Amino acid sequence: MRIGRTLPPAAAPISLRDIWVGIKGLLRGQSEIKRFESELRDYFKVDYCFLVSSGTASLTLILRALHDLFPERDEVIIPAFTCYSVPSAIVRAGLRISLCDVDPDTLDFDFERLSTLLSSTRLLAIIPTHLFALPADIERVRQLIKSPEVTIIEDAAQAMGGKRNDRLMGTLGDVSFFSLGRGKALSTVEGGIVLSNRDDIAAKIRHHVGSLSAYRLHEVIHLILKAVLLSVFVRPSLFWFPKSLPFLKLGETLFNPTFKMKGMSSFQAGLAREWKSKLDALRTIRRWQIKSWVSMMKRMGLISYVRENASSPDLIRFPIKLRDRSQVQKLYSEGKLESLGIMPVYPDSIDGIPELGHRIRSFPQARNLAETLITLPVHGFVTERDRQSIAALIAHIEEK
Ligand SMILES: *Cc1c(COP(=O)(O)O)cnc(C)c1O
Repeated sequence: MRIGRTLPPAAAPISLRDIWVGIKGLLRGQSEIKRFESELRDYFKVDYCFLVSSGTASLTLILRALHDLFPERDEVIIPAFTCYSVPSAIVRAGLRISLCDVDPDTLDFDFERLSTLLSSTRLLAIIPTHLFALPADIERVRQLIKSPEVTIIEDAAQAMGGKRNDRLMGTLGDVSFFSLGRGKALSTVEGGIVLSNRDDIAAKIRHHVGSLSAYRLHEVIHLILKAVLLSVFVRPSLFWFPKSLPFLKLGETLFNPTFKMKGMSSFQAGLAREWKSKLDALRTIRRWQIKSWVSMMKRMGLISYVRENASSPDLIRFPIKLRDRSQVQKLYSEGKLESLGIMPVYPDSIDGIPELGHRIRSFPQARNLAETLITLPVHGFVTERDRQSIAALIAHIEEK
């Protein structure tokens, strides 16, 4: 265990006051959930909104709904470099994963590869993903799809509040979801939001949401305790402590199709009160941090994924790609990664998950990203001094 100033890699802090508001929400019950749903529908200008226990649960419900609508279709295309929760949800829904390699310059699909995967008559859905909130090109996916029975599920788990070409992410696909987990744009400890304008999809999702169980009292108490721990220990002077508590599972990426699926609790909906102003405030801080990173990258001659005049430099972590794997290993060996909130992204490409049984590795770009991509923190706890330490560390690695 390492004790001392430790930056979290990402943070949308929960305050003790938020928790108090959450407890009042808990007492209001169902009406608190209805309020949050209707605020989300208004803000995103969508017809349907469903609130559940996580982004992964959201995706699972979407997939089940789509499979109800198109039972002869069962393949789901996802980027070979994405969150392990995505294949977990596909397996949980009983469907088949079809992987597409990613473009290392955009972190979006490699569109040449994608077009070769689209002819399958069993294709049910494609999941473009706004990784770190970098906007994925959903219009381009739409142009490639030939059958009206193939659905675009927008993975906006990391992109709540961000925009692409003046349109809010989460409103670009046929159906979309956000995560309210830790380390996302906004957090209620855990939680998931499904949005759609499609009557047919929403009717099926409603059916599945109706059969979910509610959080039980001890589970809500567990959530409240977790919220208190996170609110107290997210600050850099104390973050070393929760990092050392295994049950909080900080920074772990796991393939696990047995996650819980529940309707959102009124405590979580209460925690999310004032989410619009909170989201705005958090985004303002992040934008400012991102600007500093972009100019620093430019000074150091490093390439970042944020284009100089991008309409929405609004990321939850700042990705940079190092030259090769040995550089990342050098970074590790300096031993300062943890304290500076620098994180590798995912441990491997999706075909490297042993449970999925891929014997041949055929997604070289995704695999290379897993080895060379790291992220820098962009939240409000990062100081000028932290930024200089991080820059010095990266410059040192580049020299070696
Ligand atoms: C976090 C995340 C998910 C899953 O959301 P949870 O709320 O953690 O279940 C799905 N996709 C992406 C890209 C994510 O980052």
